[in-house]
Amino acid sequence: MTALVLVELDGAEPADASLRALTLARSLGDVNAVVFASAAPQDALASYGVTDVYLVEPGSLGLAGGSGGGVPPGEHCYAPQAWARTLAGLAAETGATAVLAAGTDRGNEVLAHLGAITGLPMAANCTLVTPDEGRTHRLVRHRWAGLLLEDAVMEAPVALFTVATDSVANVSAAPPSGGTPPGPPVPASIQVHVHKPELAEADLVVRAAESPAGAGGASLATARVVVGGGRGVGGPDGFAPLEELAGLLGGVVGVSRVVTSEGWRPHKQQVGQTGTKITPELYLACGISGAIQHIAGCAGAKHIIAINTDPGAPILAHADYAVIGDLHQVIPALVEALRARRTP
Ligand SMILES: Cc1cc2nc3c(=O)[nH]c(=O)nc-3n(C[C@H](O)[C@H](O)[C@H](O)COP(=O)(O)OP(=O)(O)OC[C@H]3O[C@@H](n4cnc5c(N)ncnc54)[C@H](O)[C@@H]3O)c2cc1C
Repeated sequence: MTALVLVELDGAEPADASLRALTLARSLGDVNAVVFASAAPQDALASYGVTDVYLVEPGSLGLAGGSGGGVPPGEHCYAPQAWARTLAGLAAETGATAVLAAGTDRGNEVLAHLGAITGLPMAANCTLVTPDEGRTHRLVRHRWAGLLLEDAVMEAPVALFTVATDSVANVSAAPPSGGTPPGPPVPASIQVHVHKPELAEADLVVRAAESPAGAGGASLATARVVVGGGRGVGGPDGFAPLEELAGLLGGVVGVSRVVTSEGWRPHKQQVGQTGTKITPELYLACGISGAIQHIAGCAGAKHIIAINTDPGAPILAHADYAVIGDLHQVIPALVEALRARRTP
C-alpha cells in the first residue's frame, strides 16, 4: 500500500505540520511525497521514511516562480485546484491507497478540491487512521475544533484525509544512533521525480497573489513562534511593537477574533476555532483573555506565555508563564532586551 503526502514547506524545510502527516502516513504503507517547489528537502523527507518525492516546479504549473520572472523559486505557486489536479494524477500513477495532507488551511483546501475532482470522500483533521479490511479505513478525527473526537469509518478506493496539526507527534523514522532522542538522519535512498502535471486553464483561475514566504516570514499555521495580540493591544496602530517582536523572534503575528471583527487585522491572522490552528514552540499571548474559542486554536502550542493586566484572565490557566502587566510596557522592554542581545 502506498500513501501519497502533500508536503508544505516552511522556508526550504518541510513544515512541522507536514512532518506530522508523514509520521502518520508511515503506518499506512510506503510513503511518497509531493512537493510544490523548485527543490525538495531530500534529507529531511528521507528521515521521515519517504522513498519517492514528486517535485512539481512552479514553472510547470504555468505560474510565476522557478526560472525567470524575478520571483524567488517556490514563490507564488499556490493554486488549490491545480495542486489537487496534480495530486489526482499522481495518486493514479502511483496506485496510492491514501492521499494525505496536513490539516492546515492549504492542506484542507487542496484535499477538499481533490475530493470534488475525484468524487471521493475526504475527512479533515484526523488524529488516527487505521487501514481495515478491503477499502475501509477507520479514523479518529477532530470535530468542533478538537473539543470532540469522532470515530468514523471511511469506505473508498483511495482514502483522502488531512492530519490534525496539533495531535499527532512529529517522529522521525531514523533509528536512534546510540541513544535517545533519535540521532541525525540516516542517509536513505530517495528517488526524486520531476513531475509536470496536466492541467486545464480553469485549474489556475484561483491562485495566490501573495505568499507568506514572499512576505518574508512563515505562515501562521506552521510558524515556530507566534506573537498573539488581542483587544488589549488597543487598536490597529498598537501592533507595530508586536510585529517587531515577532520579527526578532523569527515568528509571525496572530490575533484574536475581536481584532479581526474590529477590522484591525485581516482574518488570515486569526487564531482559534474560526481561524487558524497553530502549533508553535512558543505562543506569546498579549492582551488576550483566553476565550475557549481562542484556546481551541492555540492549545497545540508547546509553550504559552501570557501578558495580561488581569491576574484572573482565563488564558493564565493555559499558560506556562505569565507576566501580569501592561503589554505596552512589557513588549517594548522585551524588544529592547532582544535588540541589546543582538548588538555585539
Ligand atoms: C462561534 C464563535 C467562534 C469564535 N471563534 C473565535 C476564534 O476563532 N478566535 C478567537 O480569538 N475568538 C473567537 N471567538 C470570540 C471569543 O469568544 C472571544 O470573544 C475573543 O477571543 C476575545 O478576544 P480578546 O481576548 O482579544 O478580547 P477580550 O476578551 O476583550 O480580552 C482582552 C484581554 O486583554 C487584557 N488587556 C487589556 N488591556 C491590556 C494591556 N494594556 N496589557 C495587557 N493586557 C491587557 C484584558 O485583561 C483581557 O484579558 C468566537 C466566538 C464565537 C461565539
